Amino acid sequence: MLKRALALPLLLAVISCGPALKPLPPMAPLPEPPSESPSPASMPQPIDDRTLLSLPERDFSLDLLRERGLLVPVKGIAASQIPDTYDAPRDGARVHYAQDILAKRGTPVLAADDGAILHIGTNALGGNVIWTTDPTRRFAFYYAHLQKYAKGLHDGQQISRGDVIGYVGTSGNAPKDTPHLHFQVVRIVSGKRYSDGPPLNPLPFFTQVGITR
Ligand SMILES: [Zn+2]
Repeated sequence: MLKRALALPLLLAVISCGPALKPLPPMAPLPEPPSESPSPASMPQPIDDRTLLSLPERDFSLDLLRERGLLVPVKGIAASQIPDTYDAPRDGARVHYAQDILAKRGTPVLAADDGAILHIGTNALGGNVIWTTDPTRRFAFYYAHLQKYAKGLHDGQQISRGDVIGYVGTSGNAPKDTPHLHFQVVRIVSGKRYSDGPPLNPLPFFTQVGITR
């Protein structure tokens, strides 16, 4: 009995100290960019049991993201204006795993965080799309249905939170009368293309209204 009473505080102390003692994982080299037309099978998949088993690392990364917070990536939009469609079904078989941020066509799309452009491209579902990453390269951000990209934008370019990277549109499979930004956040997982990383709901991480720098 006494042993158990002692063991619990000790265990709690170990758990609460764990993340702080853990050194930062080394920066992984970036995986290959996604193909221009990913098949539905190569779209980010839901979190599976293996991901849940690596819980300490997952929480550590999420803590970092929570500390940094994200800027709502459409000019003039606040988080409270975004209905949560993360778990909404799409096309019957798929789940959305993203947020749709409605705005007038041509509204500036802003970088949600500092970091770099990973890839500028097009695909059937997303239309004109941009992938970016955060400064720690733990997360990738996907911006889709753009009307056009910001002038001069290129792969590898360093960006700052609030930079204009594109403009809201309906490219890809967006309804032509509903311009919006499809915004997705995935975790970068070693051994996987970043576009195949497990998605997470960005809505709780939005701490800043969409304002340009
Ligand atoms: Zn969407």
